Amino acid sequence: MNELACLECDLLINPPSLDPGQRARCPRCGSTIAAHNPDGHHRALAYALAATFLLIVANLFPFLAFKSGGIEQVITLPESAGQLHAEGSSALAIIVFAFTIVAPGLLTMGLVILLGAIVLNLRVSWLAVLGRFVTFVQPWSMVEVFLIGVLVSFTKIASLATVTLGVSFWAFAGFAICLTAALACLDRHQLWRAIENAS
Ligand SMILES: [Zn+2]
Repeated sequence: MNELACLECDLLINPPSLDPGQRARCPRCGSTIAAHNPDGHHRALAYALAATFLLIVANLFPFLAFKSGGIEQVITLPESAGQLHAEGSSALAIIVFAFTIVAPGLLTMGLVILLGAIVLNLRVSWLAVLGRFVTFVQPWSMVEVFLIGVLVSFTKIASLATVTLGVSFWAFAGFAICLTAALACLDRHQLWRAIENAS
């Protein structure tokens, strides 16, 4: 019951219930396996709500503007995948769209609903299913990888054209930070305890 695998050495452990501020360490490798953050769910929900707002902004405004030889081209975040498709890289377009918009969007929405239900003490039967869905989709959200890719391309294109980072880029960077912060506030053990209590 409630067994967790240590993320470092795979040892199966049944962590004891923790008081606020306490941490449980793996007896074999010493890495932290559970931590009780007193306001963890509230803070994670606040970051997830901010991330939702920033993701909406990131999808509505220009992402990048290129200016070269008197011609200016503005591209939005959803258009970046469309542009790859137009240039014949359909598989890459699907991957970019799935991992930088769909998966992070589903993860953020899932976190808002899951944490909202926990914070508001709603008793809902499907919370465990949602918890499993959030855990499943989390590794597929690759916003940081995408941002680093954009910055690397930015430094390469900067010598060929004048590139301006749009509102959407900054909103997307803020989204990546808020989503990472939301996940950092969550403890697996504490989250699943809360899900079990609410289901
Ligand atoms: Zn371990």
